[in-house]
Amino acid sequence: MFKTLPSRYFIIFEPMFFDFHHHHHDGRAGIYNYDCKGAVPQNPFSAGIHPADAERTELWKQLTTAASDPSCVAIGECGLDNLVSPPLTVQEQLFRQQIRLAEDLQKPLIVHCVRQHERTAHLCRDLSVSVIFHGFNRKQTIAEQLTARGFYLSFGASLLKNLSLQNSFLHCPTDLILLETDDSPIPIETLYRQAAALLNTSVETVQEIIAANLNKILK
Ligand SMILES: [Zn+2]
Repeated sequence: MFKTLPSRYFIIFEPMFFDFHHHHHDGRAGIYNYDCKGAVPQNPFSAGIHPADAERTELWKQLTTAASDPSCVAIGECGLDNLVSPPLTVQEQLFRQQIRLAEDLQKPLIVHCVRQHERTAHLCRDLSVSVIFHGFNRKQTIAEQLTARGFYLSFGASLLKNLSLQNSFLHCPTDLILLETDDSPIPIETLYRQAAALLNTSVETVQEIIAANLNKILK
């Protein structure tokens, strides 16, 4: 599934059903989200502290340990969330630290953002690593604002039913799209089929688009 090459992560991505952000323990091709609790995973993972855990300062040590593991391919999910209890000032301070960690380690940043797009985009400006807004589910104007700044958008289960999100997806440049199941039980294949239907193309073409994007992000 992964082809060995002397790149930084020793992998390049060929077209396949890659699940960009997920919480499943089934060893699927993709990036498992490690929330810095429990043992560090073996399969490719991202390491981050969710804004809901922003006051759990004890997680930072685990994050720095996991972040430098060779299987850690990205930092996150991390970001700002208007609907969780830690104060936004505390969330922002932790988010800034995680942005710095991503820059220091030169690993892409997987962003969790709920109703804080302006602020989040501002904090992520001018980074030297790729920035991916995971679980994107907002309207076209926000999609356009984020992609205009070169941020990637990763689409999940909402793409199956949410008509406004389908419209956002169609207005997103294909060189900035990714697909993910997050914590949804739907098969990732279903999302690739949906993306192909929306783009009026084949599943194989969607796989090629995503593989090309992964090779830019995880270079
Ligand atoms: Zn998630």
